[in-house]
Amino acid sequence: MDIKAARCCFFCCIIVLLKREGGAMLTAMRKNNEIISLLDPWEKQELLTLRVKESFSCPACKEPVRLKLGTRKAWHFAHERMACEIETEPESDYHIKGKKQLFESIFRNHATVSIEPYLKSIKQRPDLLVTSSLSPIALEFQCSTIPHDSLSRRTISYISKGIRPVWILGGNRLKRKSFSVFSLTPMDFLTARMKEPEMIYLTYYCPISQQLAFVYDIHTISPSSVFASVIFEKNVSLRLSTLINPSLPQQFPYEDWLAVKRKWRLGKQFPFTNSSFFHKRFYELGMPVSLYPCEAGIPTKFDYWFETPGYLWQSWILLKLIPSYGRDEVFSFRDIYEEMKILRAKKIIKIRNLKFLKETHYSFSIADYLIKLSRLGLLEQVDGLTFKRREKAKLPSSLEKAFACDREVLDFLYSKK
Ligand SMILES: [Zn+2]
Repeated sequence: MDIKAARCCFFCCIIVLLKREGGAMLTAMRKNNEIISLLDPWEKQELLTLRVKESFSCPACKEPVRLKLGTRKAWHFAHERMACEIETEPESDYHIKGKKQLFESIFRNHATVSIEPYLKSIKQRPDLLVTSSLSPIALEFQCSTIPHDSLSRRTISYISKGIRPVWILGGNRLKRKSFSVFSLTPMDFLTARMKEPEMIYLTYYCPISQQLAFVYDIHTISPSSVFASVIFEKNVSLRLSTLINPSLPQQFPYEDWLAVKRKWRLGKQFPFTNSSFFHKRFYELGMPVSLYPCEAGIPTKFDYWFETPGYLWQSWILLKLIPSYGRDEVFSFRDIYEEMKILRAKKIIKIRNLKFLKETHYSFSIADYLIKLSRLGLLEQVDGLTFKRREKAKLPSSLEKAFACDREVLDFLYSKK
């Protein structure tokens, strides 16, 4: 058996993840086709006796499963031979415990919930299926990394049956690099849900600390690092409404964003491999990237769409696109967006795969940026999304001046609200 130690980052505990041994489950089918659930209050001796007399099979693939009653891992059923043909989480003690706890707390809070039901028509076996007055919810507790295709396929098949998928990531996946900085993988991003069009969030659960965590108000720092807020909820207060519509207080810590801008300028962290295009353009303009304009690299609504860091795509708008218009010449958001689409087509600017989010688009971030530039006095908002050029961007002559004017810009945008 392959045993891997994994650090449960935000809960500061060490857990041992036991890797795949053929799809373990908390439920199985008895010879009489009844479902047996290990969530029922069994005594160990009862199960030991039952194991001798009975044989069990997987409700999905019908292959024989063994009842495992060891001490190291929560009791479970495991496929005797190979992994189940149904795509499920490779089972670990962490996963089994989390699934059990989520089931128990949702059950305790009066929702109708079933564990590991096999949905024959779509060949899926969600960890939990919750039926409420709204549409049914398939709850998936995902602790391991699975291919994007697999996560997408499962999401699409639930949606096709009118079931709302809710992916809860294992707390072991939450990597907090500093107070406001987190690492997220493309798979993590695919589980994002929307609070409001401009605010997406990810949900985590740790069965060891028995806490839920919501990571929200996500802004891109690099393809794999984001700036975000996090809020924790104890499992005991886990109501279905908390899970489906958590309350997420607005609290953008803009002082911390200054540290992000600083690191971009120093170029020491958040390496970004596709930056050579921008570096060349800065070179042509006779300036080092570290002295990018103070009005670039500001957080915008919807900027979670970009993999490309904000200081690069916003510098491009400030230094290349806007100067192509004369002073007082009117241009629209659309003109800028069309230019950005070209960069996207050339893969110079990268946009994330967030195909399950509706009513949001990366272009909204560009629009918000132009509006923010109007507030800063660089543009004049003529009407809706048409603008006139006014002032030039501030190009700092030294790093020291850059840090000071970064602060001025953010102070203006955030502290005078
Ligand atoms: Zn099976």
